[in-house]
Amino acid sequence: MRPAVSAKLAPFGTTIFTTMSRLAAEHGAVNLSQGFPDFEGPAFVKEAAARALHHEHNQYAPMPGLPALRARIAERFTRDTALACDPDAQVVVTAGCTEAIAAALLGVCDPGDEVVLFEPYYDSYRACVAMAGCTARFVALRPGADGVFRFDPAELAGAFTGRTRAVIVNTPHNPTGKVFSREELEQIAACCRRTGAIAIADEVYERLLFEPSALPHICFASLPGMAGQTLTLSSIGKTFSLTGWKIGWAVGPASLAAAVRSAHQFLAFAVATPLQHGAAEALKREAEYVPELVALLDANRRRLGGALSELGFVVHPPAGTYFICADHSAVSRRLSVVDDAELCTRLIRDYGVAAIPPSVFYDRKHLGRNLLRFAFCKKPETIEEGIRRLRALARA
Ligand code: GLN
Repeated sequence: MRPAVSAKLAPFGTTIFTTMSRLAAEHGAVNLSQGFPDFEGPAFVKEAAARALHHEHNQYAPMPGLPALRARIAERFTRDTALACDPDAQVVVTAGCTEAIAAALLGVCDPGDEVVLFEPYYDSYRACVAMAGCTARFVALRPGADGVFRFDPAELAGAFTGRTRAVIVNTPHNPTGKVFSREELEQIAACCRRTGAIAIADEVYERLLFEPSALPHICFASLPGMAGQTLTLSSIGKTFSLTGWKIGWAVGPASLAAAVRSAHQFLAFAVATPLQHGAAEALKREAEYVPELVALLDANRRRLGGALSELGFVVHPPAGTYFICADHSAVSRRLSVVDDAELCTRLIRDYGVAAIPPSVFYDRKHLGRNLLRFAFCKKPETIEEGIRRLRALARA
């Protein structure tokens, strides 16, 4: 009998985030795997959504998104990029950035097209490329001697062919915490200009940047010549610690926004109305929340990064996001563990800490098997408890 799951989706099984959070709960582990805060988002955002819910804003929102939210998204995009943005023609509100990724790929790609992905990639990119009937081409991000992940420009250029329809650029980058430099983004933009490929820029971690000396976040759409062929995707989930709200968006030239809408109308149609009211308030008062969030995350980043180094992990210090990637080779040798998946199992079972095995974010799995990803979007006491438990590794 034919399997129930389609051949397109069967290779992807269950997403690692669901798997690891379930295991963490089963074993009572400190959950540093799935990236969600264990603290609340700002009260003023929740209150705005609650007001909307109590004041009869509970029917379908307009398909492309609530006008008040689209106006805020357009204003913010203009502030960030200095590009004009028409909220009616250029903005689509989606069920989180994950739906925006799916709607962008399904909206612009035809079966047989190629999509360039950087490895490691966020897992939904790979699955959505398959759902769109496309072929993925990979460009590896490899850590240099300074711990910073970079790509080989020749590998990048070689990944773009006559069949390339799109490239997904994720900066700041999950899981490495890399912030792409202007020079790197220019190299990607040059490939897009040469081939006419559309850039799908996933910038959900755009506000989560560390160290004043670190690279600034550069919106891909703001690069010379790229505004006309870039879809910029983001959400309120990471910026406002409201990952459960699933309010995201896509912004781009009218033609590309229309392509996203053409898929979105049949995927989600419209997104939770009261939460869109809340999201509009969030974007209006962003400055009241983001600095305190970044300060908390930065303290966690230093604390967890330092503790992991002391335990023998080689930490690749993140310049952005709320993830730390660390090479676990020395620790795994001590434990006679062969790869990231086995180490994650041991950490949950024997030490009570859950992390993510990054090899799931690679097609060339061997490139990721020496890494682990830890999420530090947690209360300081959660980070402390995780560190306390991980210290048992020193005695292993
Ligand atoms: N983006 C989050 C992460 O990388 C979680 C995504 C999810 O659970 N689907 O951990």
